[in-house]
Amino acid sequence: MKRLYIAYTGGTIGMRRTDEGYAPQPGFLAEQMAQMPELADPRMPAYTLHEYEPLLDSSNMRPADWLRIGRDIVTHYDEYDGFLVLHGTDTMAYTASALPFFIQGLNKPVIITGSQIPLSEVRNDARSNLVTSMLIAAEAPVPEVTLYFGNRLLRGCRATKVNAEGLEAFDSPNYPPLATVGVEVHVDPSHLRREQRGHPHLVEPVREPTIGAFRLFPGVSSELLANVLQPPLEGLALLTYGVGNGPDRDGNLLGTIRAATDRGVVIVACTQCLRGAVHLGEYATGAALARAGVISGYDMTTEAALCKLHYLFGAGHSPRQVRELMGQDLCGELTLPAFEKVM
Ligand code: ASP
Repeated sequence: MKRLYIAYTGGTIGMRRTDEGYAPQPGFLAEQMAQMPELADPRMPAYTLHEYEPLLDSSNMRPADWLRIGRDIVTHYDEYDGFLVLHGTDTMAYTASALPFFIQGLNKPVIITGSQIPLSEVRNDARSNLVTSMLIAAEAPVPEVTLYFGNRLLRGCRATKVNAEGLEAFDSPNYPPLATVGVEVHVDPSHLRREQRGHPHLVEPVREPTIGAFRLFPGVSSELLANVLQPPLEGLALLTYGVGNGPDRDGNLLGTIRAATDRGVVIVACTQCLRGAVHLGEYATGAALARAGVISGYDMTTEAALCKLHYLFGAGHSPRQVRELMGQDLCGELTLPAFEKVM
């Protein structure tokens, strides 16, 4: 019988209705799971449920929590066939984006899931997300960090929350689902990462860097951006228009960006669009950002760009190394343009 390790970090999936709204409560999810006949079925994997203390609404998660989850998986790696992380949906895409950078050499499935409605409600999405992701983690050959939600298994570092209320709350707009679930479960092997060599390990950061995100909007003030770019900021995901454009008629804004990149702040252009990639040379307005020292985030989600900046600076890389590594595909988080543009 396959064995699963379930790290229960908090989130709606295990919450209970209280006078102040839904809140996690120690022991409550374990009680609910113990009453589910499906989990006692011999076709299901055996599991160990490890409840975190404290259980968190994922809005409270910090990078230290990503590392705690990563350490937990690496520590129990040899004893189990697969891993599930039960997590709140609000920052699930961040944890799913961060773990592939920090856990290296993974050869077993790690699936992050949760739900929009708690398991304790009569009508919920928790039951199917839990049961299906347990089966996939035990049976499917997907040796990477993924996010399962609403009948789709997505690459973790490509996922983003796209719906605050719907049950198909996540998407990976720039990468196809790794598996789809209907009457049958279909995995597409051509989309999976190749198995890693060796034993997995966690890349422990040597320090906690200061990273930020800033969204351009019409009329954005250069003073505002200058404040954001002040020390101790080291890396910024700049949410640009379309394929990576910004206002090239605003000399103050470009000067502010130039001054920051000259100081070693790494500014990565992501697109405000849900789909598609950044091409900084396509318009003069994007080329101006590139001349000011902004680098392309290609088709990375903002979540992945932020986690990657955090990971790289935290690992002790210099700004120059971070600039270089941001443009490389480290764990399936970005697609480098494969073709020469001919038209
Ligand atoms: N606020 C909750 C959380 O992220 C939302 C959820 O789990 O759906 O923990």
